[in-house]
Amino acid sequence: MTGRTAGAKMGGILTLNAGSSSLKFALFGPAGEAPLATGLADRIGLQGSLRLKDSAGAALPVAPGSLTSHAQALHCVLDSLHAAFPGIGVGAVGHRVVHGGPERATHALVDAALLDDLATLSPFAPLHQPHNLAGIRAAIEAFPEAPQVACFDTAFHRSHPWVNDTYGLPRQLYDLGVRRYGFHGLSYDYIAGELARSAPALAQGRVVIAHLGNGASLCGLLAGRSIASTMGFSPLDGLPMGTRPGQLDPGVMLFLMDQQGMSPQDISDLLYKQSGLLGLSGLSNDMRTLEASPAPEAAQAIEYFTARIRLEIGSMAAALGGIDALVFSGGIGENSALVRAKVCAGMGWLGIEIDTLANEAHARVVSAAGAATDVLVVPTNEELVIARATRALAGGGERTAA
Ligand code: AMP
Repeated sequence: MTGRTAGAKMGGILTLNAGSSSLKFALFGPAGEAPLATGLADRIGLQGSLRLKDSAGAALPVAPGSLTSHAQALHCVLDSLHAAFPGIGVGAVGHRVVHGGPERATHALVDAALLDDLATLSPFAPLHQPHNLAGIRAAIEAFPEAPQVACFDTAFHRSHPWVNDTYGLPRQLYDLGVRRYGFHGLSYDYIAGELARSAPALAQGRVVIAHLGNGASLCGLLAGRSIASTMGFSPLDGLPMGTRPGQLDPGVMLFLMDQQGMSPQDISDLLYKQSGLLGLSGLSNDMRTLEASPAPEAAQAIEYFTARIRLEIGSMAAALGGIDALVFSGGIGENSALVRAKVCAGMGWLGIEIDTLANEAHARVVSAAGAATDVLVVPTNEELVIARATRALAGGGERTAA
């Protein structure tokens, strides 16, 4: 694709989240916090499909084009956005990047040196980082003059104290980068900001956020700063997820390699694609499917998922010295009253008690009146965090392209 050149259009912000076979995107205007459009190109390279909707959720027409590569998918996305919003150009592009390395605590304008540096982190997140970087390269090709901003999922967690940043391994491995990075930072950043705005006193306290989606993790925040997270060196650790097992005795890996003859690729597939809710239920990684299923294995998968979340909430509370609020977010956390109820059941010892009616109504506050710990449901908005950072770093999105 050739570069799209500057025109007399208003400079919007395009946010991109490039996965192995998907491209999630949103278009924001030059100002304002609500996206003009959001969408997803998925199954890129297979039988790709592109969906695009406006701010009211109505489907927008999709431009014709092939979805056989990320660059082609981006081309198709841009043509669709151009047709729907002819007055809005792309002034800057913000990218979700899973790994920023051990030092980077803030998001950054992309230049050649940063791209090279981020590529050295690909071995730390081989299933995500190379695709994120391919998305940046495709956007640079499409908009050579627009600032590109990299927003890191690890950045929010760089405030962890050393004990929550290290493993009990020889020190040279820490120096080599074997650390607890923590992920889902864009989501936690959004929720921390939302709490600071809507519940400032609570935001100054001890808050555990449960980001429960297809990927799942907890974050413990003290006065708005991340102190601990259940995800560690990779997005595999901590809670069970749609297709990942969560916390696992490393001895299992040795057994699989030594006794079962599994290769690193076999183990990677097992850990990233075949475990978690899918592996336990033998049915699906999708919580809606499991909740609707009469199969005992589906119920057991939900039991394991919620039991591990309860254990890890206890662990986060220990890291924080107590808990003032528990916040549910992510596709499951925001939408599954069953999961929230099961997580909170038996957590009275931490002051967590749920109001059944409020929970079933998906209210913002779902804790029982008088409970010591507030339980909230806060929808996350990672795209907005990327758009804000991109506006700030790119100088307000004033340069136009497209
Ligand atoms: P995410 O990765 O944040 O998009 O979340 C995806 C997960 O949210 C999937 O497991 C979905 O099944 C789950 N989810 C979405 N809506 C609901 C719902 N209404 N009830 C239960 N789970 C849901």
